[in-house]
Amino acid sequence: AAPDFGPMNPFVEGLEETPIVEVALHGWDRQGLIPLWFGEGDLPTPAFITDAAADAMRRGETFYTDQRGIHDLRKEIASYMNRTFELEGDLAVDTDRVSLTTGGMSSLALAMQIILEPGDEVVVIGPIWPNIYSTVEINGGKSVHVSIRLEEDDWHLDMEELYAAVTDKTKAIFVNSPGNPTGWLMEREQQQQLLDFARERGIWVISDEVYHQLVFDRDVAPSMLQIAEPDDRLFVINSFSKSWMMTGWRLGWLTHPAALGPTVAKLVQITTSGVPQFLHRGAITAMREGDEVIKQLRERCLAGRDIVFDRLEAWPRISAARPKAAFYAFFAVDGMGDSIAACKEIIDKCNVGLAPGAAFGPAGEGYLRLCYASAPERLKAAMDALEGVLGGPK
Ligand code: PLP
Repeated sequence: AAPDFGPMNPFVEGLEETPIVEVALHGWDRQGLIPLWFGEGDLPTPAFITDAAADAMRRGETFYTDQRGIHDLRKEIASYMNRTFELEGDLAVDTDRVSLTTGGMSSLALAMQIILEPGDEVVVIGPIWPNIYSTVEINGGKSVHVSIRLEEDDWHLDMEELYAAVTDKTKAIFVNSPGNPTGWLMEREQQQQLLDFARERGIWVISDEVYHQLVFDRDVAPSMLQIAEPDDRLFVINSFSKSWMMTGWRLGWLTHPAALGPTVAKLVQITTSGVPQFLHRGAITAMREGDEVIKQLRERCLAGRDIVFDRLEAWPRISAARPKAAFYAFFAVDGMGDSIAACKEIIDKCNVGLAPGAAFGPAGEGYLRLCYASAPERLKAAMDALEGVLGGPK
């Protein structure tokens, strides 16, 4: 029998395992399985970045650091954002608005820890990465869901629906653009409407921009930083994971109003106590010398997207929109039923690992997610294998 440890934090007891893990455990040990279920590609971090961190470690950069990251790196991040998003004058981000974190995940946890009081609501635009909901709940909040919809050939958000979901308990609106799992991109006009509305109502915007570099029809995705004042109620979540192929490093950053810097430092102190010192050098190198790497990754993802969508679009049971951004195919399968069971069946029948739509909130059931940040041969092999299960008639 399971040991009885007595009463525990009810929020912890209420946490559920994500169905992505349930599916992955089902297929983990299969010989020759092609895993496209997680949000990462198959390439390791480029050597010039790992060398910089390894050299720093050998040099003895193995001590505690500033809780919010060393100044050189925070300065580098600010200058990266100013260059990438062309932020000038009042819009330019200052070093004191930037805090280094243990990944985008930690950035979003910090934002929620800072603002949520028990019973607060956070409006979450989904389908979305499941950890968002859990992070709201573990911090005593309640998530309220608003769905984007697949119409014709793109995903759409109805702003009226978003506004209608806001109540006097709403503390924040969470938006992830470019979006996981859909690849949805919030255009500037809607960003401006969102910001105006949030200002008027005195609520926070938490903008998750970890896929800002992975966009195919322009240089960079529109950022909330391009329209917000330094003291707006805005957090922007970012990460080294996706653009620089550094998922295992656990490095990200949070952009926040300058006045919240000391609060972030205190929270980091009592949670992770900061990022390993030698990793800072890898991060600085990634930002200074990584532009070519990002360009190559973007080209690889674009090629991967087209390999996957050329096939999906020919299969009668599939509805999908070829995304402008991020690195996921999120597609509906006519007559599929439970997406978790379907993913397990796909593993059993054709040895390809996909993520079930049910993982991505109330609007996700009926869909499957495939990450196409992989080698073209691997994606072709996966699509060949999937054709037998998903490629048939309605
Ligand atoms: N936000 C979104 C939308 C994501 O998809 C992910 C990772 O999949 C993250 C944040 C967190 O990234 P990390 O913690 O690896 O930096």
